Amino acid sequence: MKRSYNKEVKAPVYTIEECTQCGLKSKRFFQDGDYVYRRSGKCGKCNGTMIITYIYTEKPITE
Ligand SMILES: [Zn+2]
Repeated sequence: MKRSYNKEVKAPVYTIEECTQCGLKSKRFFQDGDYVYRRSGKCGKCNGTMIITYIYTEKPITE
């Protein structure tokens, strides 16, 4: 039985941002320092404040 501990697949992590004013949602890749409820810049639609509402990872499907 062989197991490789070094070949761990790194799944991409995503950050979901949401505008507190108009509710616009955007998805981007996770960046260092991201955490939920962190302010994340300006909304491109209404210039409101974007906050991070969700951080998740898509785990690779394994058999
Ligand atoms: Zn907005």
